[in-house]
Amino acid sequence: MLVYFKRVLFCFIILIQSNIVLGQNSSETKNESMAYSVEEMLQWDKYPTFEVYDSLMRGFALSYPTLCRLDTIGFSEQGRLILSLIIKGDTIEKQYKPKFFYTSTIHGNELTGYIMLLRLTQYLLYSYQNQDERIKSLIDNVDIYINPLANPDGTYFGGNNSVFESKRYNSNYVDLNRNFPDIVLGDHPDNETYYQNETLAFMLYSQENKFSLSANLHTGAEVLNYPYDCYNSIEKTHADRDWFIDICNVFMDSMPDNVPSNFFKDVSSLGYINGGNWYKVYGGRQDYTTYFNNTREITFELSNSYILPTNQLNNYWNYLGNSLISYIEQCKKGLEGFVRDSLTGEGLKAKVFIENHDSFHSEVYSLEEGGYYYRPILQGTYSITYSLEGYLPKTITNLEIYPHQMKRQDVFLVKDENSIKDFKDNNNDSFYLYPNPAKGYVVLDIEKGEKYIGKEYRILNSLSMEVKKGRIVGRKTYIDISEFKSGVYIFSINNSSIKFIKQ
Ligand SMILES: [Zn+2]
Repeated sequence: MLVYFKRVLFCFIILIQSNIVLGQNSSETKNESMAYSVEEMLQWDKYPTFEVYDSLMRGFALSYPTLCRLDTIGFSEQGRLILSLIIKGDTIEKQYKPKFFYTSTIHGNELTGYIMLLRLTQYLLYSYQNQDERIKSLIDNVDIYINPLANPDGTYFGGNNSVFESKRYNSNYVDLNRNFPDIVLGDHPDNETYYQNETLAFMLYSQENKFSLSANLHTGAEVLNYPYDCYNSIEKTHADRDWFIDICNVFMDSMPDNVPSNFFKDVSSLGYINGGNWYKVYGGRQDYTTYFNNTREITFELSNSYILPTNQLNNYWNYLGNSLISYIEQCKKGLEGFVRDSLTGEGLKAKVFIENHDSFHSEVYSLEEGGYYYRPILQGTYSITYSLEGYLPKTITNLEIYPHQMKRQDVFLVKDENSIKDFKDNNNDSFYLYPNPAKGYVVLDIEKGEKYIGKEYRILNSLSMEVKKGRIVGRKTYIDISEFKSGVYIFSINNSSIKFIKQ
């Protein structure tokens, strides 16, 4: 696989070789280390001004309109855009795919990941368009979200034209990687009164997008730091600890042979560590995302220098580029499928729980829209229970997950007939609709709800269009639904409504 990577990299290397030499020989000033145009930036040996960063991100979306689009995560406290580029490729074969998220530089003065992610974005888009087999397979199977700069106010603390006065904090001197809700300490673990704009934006973005795997890129050390940060491994380990170690090993093994001998060795000789065993962090993004959003996130510390000398930027891409891609490729293996209603075929938001394995929010959920789920997991034999309130749970036993493969397991859940209590109206003064699911008619049974007699009822389809209305004539009202198409309908009287299914 490294061959493909090197082949496409080759043309970039030709382009940039002269700059590597120049960079090493000249005594650079801070001004010379900044790129003031996208063309200059694409030599990858300078840091971008904020305007160049913004233009570069827009440029990607404009240059590869069928492969990606630019998204706004939110705005910083000073009103700078927090951007994300969404790379989905141009294939329509797979509508639902695992979602992957890279985000860097939540600490504004930790810049290596900022440049690596910009360069990775360029590399992925260029390689996909040029039919690189590895990258095409990656993007066709994983939706990739890339946010190179999480804390723009910190990075451009000294103004938009320089990164050399950057700060760890945001413009309010808040450490954003201590500002998230915490597993141990709960809300506001840093004793700040508010979550910062940047924090809120990332919380919302994670909740909306349901990423399966992510990484938060830092500098100041060279190590991969996996969950949890708020516990050491004696206090608590993640249910997927072995899987975390496995993917850390893949990251390390994907580095080229020419990395310096002490590269990624300063914290642990293995190159990775259980976060809380290194030092404990409360309010960090990694634990928040992993615990509260059922994602899996690792913190990457990419270089000992906070701000790498610009003549090192190309070297670090050569050291790290292949590993950054290998990490995304982890989303190509594990378990995926769809959870649907057995009668309507509609997607369900069900819990996907691995028996004798999952704990402490390590389970995943299928998406309400489509019912798609993806569960990263090591090879092995598992029993998996799919469950949702109102449905009978279903367990698949002896499911084999093979190495380096994606296993597909679809499940249909059957409505639990005993869950009729779920169809009680909101006021709890009891009207029932049965049978549910129904074929030719439904009976509206008003147990204690005499107040409904004489009132108008309405039936809406799943698009909220009215398909029938009438009056409630007595304690039991028979309603003909034989003309209805199969599907889910909403029956409502006044402000109370219940769902029923036409078979
Ligand atoms: Zn950091």
